Amino acid sequence: MRATEFLSRTLRQDPNEAETVSHRLMLRAGMMLQAAAGVYSYLPLALRSIKKIERIVREEMNAAGGQEVLMPTLQTLETWEQSGRAAAFGDNLFRLFDRRERPLVLAPTHEEVVTAIAGAHIESYRDLPLNIYQIQTKFRDEPRPRAGLLRGREFVMKDAYSFDTDQEGLDVTYQRMRVAYRNIFRRCGLPTIEVEADSGAIGGKDSHEFIMPAQSGEDVILYCEESGYAANVERATSIINPALEGEPLPLEVVDTPGITTIADLAVFLGISESQTLKAVFYQADAETVLVTVRGDIEVNEVKLKNHLHCLDLRLANAEEVAAAGLTPGSTSPIGLSGIRRIADTSILQGNNFAAGANQPDKHYQNVNYPRDFEVDETVDIATAREGDGSPDGQGTLKAVRGIEVGHVFKLGTFFTTTLGVDFLDESGTLKPPVMGCYGIGVTRILAAAIEQNHDDKGIIFPAPIAPFQAHLLALNATDPDVRAAADALYDELSSAGCEVLYDDRAESAGVKFNDADLLGLPVRIVVSPRNLKQSVVEIKRRRADEAAQVPADGVVAAVRDLLALDEL
Ligand code: ATP
Ligand code: MG
Repeated sequence: MRATEFLSRTLRQDPNEAETVSHRLMLRAGMMLQAAAGVYSYLPLALRSIKKIERIVREEMNAAGGQEVLMPTLQTLETWEQSGRAAAFGDNLFRLFDRRERPLVLAPTHEEVVTAIAGAHIESYRDLPLNIYQIQTKFRDEPRPRAGLLRGREFVMKDAYSFDTDQEGLDVTYQRMRVAYRNIFRRCGLPTIEVEADSGAIGGKDSHEFIMPAQSGEDVILYCEESGYAANVERATSIINPALEGEPLPLEVVDTPGITTIADLAVFLGISESQTLKAVFYQADAETVLVTVRGDIEVNEVKLKNHLHCLDLRLANAEEVAAAGLTPGSTSPIGLSGIRRIADTSILQGNNFAAGANQPDKHYQNVNYPRDFEVDETVDIATAREGDGSPDGQGTLKAVRGIEVGHVFKLGTFFTTTLGVDFLDESGTLKPPVMGCYGIGVTRILAAAIEQNHDDKGIIFPAPIAPFQAHLLALNATDPDVRAAADALYDELSSAGCEVLYDDRAESAGVKFNDADLLGLPVRIVVSPRNLKQSVVEIKRRRADEAAQVPADGVVAAVRDLLALDEL
């Protein structure tokens, strides 16, 4: 492609609306244009990358036994009410009406419709297993769509759904899909970490996310180099540091003037935060819940929400705490009844804790469980953190930020049961097929790749998903000798199957070099009057600092060698 004919224009200035690196660089490089918040036109540069990602995804899905379909984006709201997910998706679901005022939605995912397809096809166990996928535009009315393709309101996803006769069948399919996902990210040239993930309240059992480590990521994962354990923080469990334990001492009330936080309480009493208890009030739908954790531990609200099976969970405000007859800043699990009380298992580690006394300016000392207070349940609702022990007891957890690019999930029979799909098993009994679902954010992968691969000059595309493989710059493009040599090289590379963006514009060398760094194509080839005199061409890998001089007839081979370096 010749730059003079190409639908792309680089920007000198950073666009104001861009909050993340990938968003800024994609706009500056002329890859896409914003049409509305979280909605973009993909220009040729972006689309070429997206097509490459899609191709890799498609090949691996087919190899894993997937059959490609294309399901409708426009669906009836009724479909979503039958499964009960209209409420679960809430404001994230785009809704509209047709001319007869019938309510419709723009689909954010396709479990309902794919279950109907399976229902129309499956009669007996002979029709299973079935693995169906599509690559399609999804719609989600995200509350903060400000990160470009990382979190769009309209974006491309590959979603796959499997149907098996039983749990063992699903285990096999699930494993196959995990391998396919590892292949996809490896072939894209993008290192990812596969982690245990939260599987939500509907509670399929297994769930794994594929996370691309990147500073800007919204996800935090905890992993252990020694044991290989890796989990999203939403899900991670850990062995917490032990707290002091001693002979149980008598409970006493102490004056703590003005003390309302755990940090202040620990300093005031000269103890560590692990020797305190923290009582936190939550509003779970309509119910107020008291949660008690050791003072140095944070409540994991995802674990808590799953445990409570509630739709909405938030901290109770001061008025709600006071309305329950409690003292904000000194709330206490002691003497509390008539309210649901949940404790984290961390309260079992340590004793003689300091805790609130439910009166202003006073706390208890030497609180011991279960001697001094009751709870209804003791469950793991702790937030694991860096430095904790790996739950398998084999090392220490480290934390890293990353971007979720894929998610595989054992759904179970929720949709097949709810929507009434079944099959006849070998003994003639009707059973619901067991489902799995598997998502990959195709457009998110592109943005995440840039978050992971860039420098202060621009993008550094991994070769397998770069829009073009090489950027050919003709310096002094108006010089007939340069023009002839660069044209010849462009033809030669193109006929050798190399995808070249040929900068044949009458721009200065500085502009061309800057644009090449900004676009970040894997290999840069420079034809200049000076090089021509020595019968060489300059060739440089975007990722490397040094350029090399190559004889004009050795360029194709040299480009091939450099591209191979990006293969994982
Ligand atoms: P997130 O937690 O980031 O909102 P999710 O868990 O809701 O994502 P899934 O429903 O598991 O996402 O969707 C499958 C994949 O689709 C995700 O792994 C992600 O790569 C991609 N994806 C989800 N939401 C978006 C979005 N708003 N923009 C771009 N890609 C997305
Ligand atoms: Mg997810």
